[in-house]
Amino acid sequence: MSIRYFSTRGQAPVLDFEGVLLAGLARDGGLYLPESLPHFSADELRAMRGLSYTDLATTVIAPFVEGSIDRNTLAQLVEASYTDFRHEAIAPLIQLDHDQWLLELFHGPTLAFKDFALQLLGRLLDHILTRRGEKVVIMGATSGDTGSAAIEGCRHCENVDIFILYPDGRVSDVQRRQMTTVEGDNVHNLAVRGNFDDCQALVKASFVGERFLPDGRSLVAVNSINWARIMAQIVYYFYAAFALGGPDRPVSFSVPTGNFGDIYAGYLAHRMGLPVNNLVIATNRNDVLHRMLTTGTYSRQPIEASLSPSMDISISSNFERLLFDLYDGDAAKIASLMDEFDQGKVALSDAALAKVRSLFTSACVSDEETCEEISRLWTHTGLLVDPHTAIGTRAARQCRRAEEGPMVTLATAHPAKFPAAVARAETGESPQLPPHLTDLFDREERFHTLDNELTAIHAFMAAQCRS
Ligand SMILES: *Cc1c(COP(=O)(O)O)cnc(C)c1O
Repeated sequence: MSIRYFSTRGQAPVLDFEGVLLAGLARDGGLYLPESLPHFSADELRAMRGLSYTDLATTVIAPFVEGSIDRNTLAQLVEASYTDFRHEAIAPLIQLDHDQWLLELFHGPTLAFKDFALQLLGRLLDHILTRRGEKVVIMGATSGDTGSAAIEGCRHCENVDIFILYPDGRVSDVQRRQMTTVEGDNVHNLAVRGNFDDCQALVKASFVGERFLPDGRSLVAVNSINWARIMAQIVYYFYAAFALGGPDRPVSFSVPTGNFGDIYAGYLAHRMGLPVNNLVIATNRNDVLHRMLTTGTYSRQPIEASLSPSMDISISSNFERLLFDLYDGDAAKIASLMDEFDQGKVALSDAALAKVRSLFTSACVSDEETCEEISRLWTHTGLLVDPHTAIGTRAARQCRRAEEGPMVTLATAHPAKFPAAVARAETGESPQLPPHLTDLFDREERFHTLDNELTAIHAFMAAQCRS
């Protein structure tokens, strides 16, 4: 039986897996969710221990794509997705102290955890499009990590042209070069004369109009609201828990959080049967989720720049998916809550707040504390971590409850991706790019600088699409 997917706001068409992969956002403004989640019993989980990362990924993902992709094909796509990872374990676990661990998710091609989802997403898309005889255009805005991961995931796709918009002069040199030095005649980097919000507004407006592409080609969104991305991220929660004695010993996770995509995947692993004690929402000063958990009010505030830019957000889009569960799947209620939130803020009911607090804890970590934490870890373990990861380990210690068992912090990026922030921690050590990127600064860059102007961008995109 294949799983069907419906919108959190209840007013969009019900779709199969192919449909949600190609849709991204639901037409009613909501986010797609599976009608039912696969569930693994303790015995089934025990039987999954010891599987390699890719075998485990195939087992966990198979039920979600059933009816669209057969198991052998899925196994091949998964295998291909993780061959470019530069660690044999794919997601290695490193011990920090007696019961704190790091799950290193930065061994993929672009050095951030987003590779886990986007390597697979590109292959799933291309496979399905080949079968359907269709071509699509991916359009996305990035302030850093998503753009490069999406480009790396799609550079070999026959049926996908990808356009990534970034604010001209406002992404770090490493991040920009990771996008602009990729070769591929389907890869287009657009440096927009504007800020990140301008880029995002251009992308949003394009999805509403959408009639500017050749041969009725459709636009696909690959930001973290795309269901397929969440799905791919569920796997490493199981993988880490098994290594630490799961399912016979509950594990906790601390997750550096922006859009709530990554940590929501951990919540799903828990709902699929994995014993989890505590899910720590680790935020920087853009703490919309931490404020929600402490005050019960979900309210937006302007974005402030921090040392952990990949978590600089004012809205945590994927939180809507959790809200859906907190309100027992009442789609009409979610639609009205989100309307209220669009006006500025919304108060959670006592019941909803009690539910979220029963599994989640949270902490907000300042730039100064982030530097202290990088320095502390360097002194005590000899490990150099990136600022996002440091927020995770700091929050893990802060939110730990007694007798909790192992706590795993997700190391979301390689420190060499954020050398300036790491330098501020004054460890005396500067992080080195891994071998496949040591010549990053010698490679030729390819990008187009365009005005913050929708019609010009559409004309550019239409002209560049491969036939
Ligand atoms: C994207 C990103 C995050 C935040 O992930 P979400 O799924 O948006 O919560 C954290 N750290 C790094 C390095 C990232 O690139």
